[in-house]
Amino acid sequence: MNAISYLSGGTFHRYSLFGINILVHGKTGAIWQLDDLSWKLLDGQSAEPEGDALAELAAIASEARQAEERFAKQGALYAENLEEGPTHLKSLCLNVAHDCNLRCKYCFAGKGAFGGERGLMSSEVGKAAIDLLMQLSGPRQNCEADFFGGEPLLNWNVVKELVSYGKEQAAEYGKQLQFTLTTNGLLLDDEKLAFINEENMGLILSIDGRPEVHDRMRPDLGGSGSHSRVLAKIKEAVAKKADDNWWVRGTYTSWNLDFTQDVKFLVEAGFSNISLEPVVTDEEYQLREEDLPKIEREYERLASYYLQRQREGKPFSFFHFNFDLAKGPCLAKRLLGCGAGHAYLAVSPRGDLYPCHQFVGQEAYRIGTVFQGIEKPELGDRFRQAHIFNKEKCRSCWAQLYCSGGCHANALAKNGDLMLPDELGCRIQQKRLECAIVIHVLTSAHAQIPA
Ligand code: SF4
Ligand code: SF4
Repeated sequence: MNAISYLSGGTFHRYSLFGINILVHGKTGAIWQLDDLSWKLLDGQSAEPEGDALAELAAIASEARQAEERFAKQGALYAENLEEGPTHLKSLCLNVAHDCNLRCKYCFAGKGAFGGERGLMSSEVGKAAIDLLMQLSGPRQNCEADFFGGEPLLNWNVVKELVSYGKEQAAEYGKQLQFTLTTNGLLLDDEKLAFINEENMGLILSIDGRPEVHDRMRPDLGGSGSHSRVLAKIKEAVAKKADDNWWVRGTYTSWNLDFTQDVKFLVEAGFSNISLEPVVTDEEYQLREEDLPKIEREYERLASYYLQRQREGKPFSFFHFNFDLAKGPCLAKRLLGCGAGHAYLAVSPRGDLYPCHQFVGQEAYRIGTVFQGIEKPELGDRFRQAHIFNKEKCRSCWAQLYCSGGCHANALAKNGDLMLPDELGCRIQQKRLECAIVIHVLTSAHAQIPA
């Protein structure tokens, strides 16, 4: 097969953005920047090989073939290598409060059912969860636990108790345990911020961006908007945070497909670590396939704004544009994905275990309890086997080693099938990745950032 037909088929993907021509090899994750002549030749816009274009494409094809051979030797192209050996638990999502002081529409708390159970986690349940993490993490040195809800600050005394218990246990087991707290910020005060700093905890602070966007989705118990109070609190939290281990995190819906404006609002409010996630819901504000052209254009607009801030020497971090070719996730993580159900588990207030926070309260996905341990190992195995080699769609996808197979919860919610990734989620993931790669190219040392 000649170089052009080889580079045009399989899991190769080419695209052009902001005048940068990119070729990605899905199977190995290799990325090349093409000059215009090679691009035209590969794209069929030029029948005549000009200059060194053909030689360049032949060199790229040879590199790609060698990379494939290397991967094959490492055993990274075959499913059975992923399914051998034990998986060790790494992270817990501790739902310490199934209660909240807000009623955000896209949260279970906003619907009033609290995933079937309202209440706070006792320290007994939390400690049993940490014991389980210590036991099931085997030889892993670094473990993580996220305090989540509802609003975890409603159960602050238990949070504090679990942090000190967790640190003691980690020391006994010779491990490191990193804690994170996901909060709407309203109950943060000096005492809590001092504790968070002393314990080097990470912070995820929930805010959606512009006041009207946030207030429409995140009312308080009386139905009033929460934006001004949340903004004041999280500004204070970020100002007092002793390290850079924090993110402001929002959600966008079909009601704010111009979400670059929300990111701009957050940047101009002084936040430099920003994440904005697409909503997953079947409510009226859900994202639909017909929204995709707008969503894709909006990510390009966001990438353009991101580059503009870089040029002006006022950069910010956008979670999904963070892309480090040299220090990306290890190969196992790239192949196995988020780890839900085997490396990552969520714990409900009464101690039931689920594959991740999105499944809490769904009886069919209750995998065990903190007291009895894993009672349905076959459920964890199903999640573990839902990796890119076993999903037909992922095997032929150019983004496979960067996306790692998508979100299991989305696949089940949209398609009722763990092995069938949600198309909308895939397209959003691919678009973010296209932008991230070009941003990486344009912001690498010596690159000129075009106006
Ligand atoms: S989940 Fe979608 S985007 Fe991700 S690797 Fe699979 S097919 Fe590609
Ligand atoms: S299944 Fe989806 S929501 Fe759950 S941990 Fe994985 S990526 Fe996150």
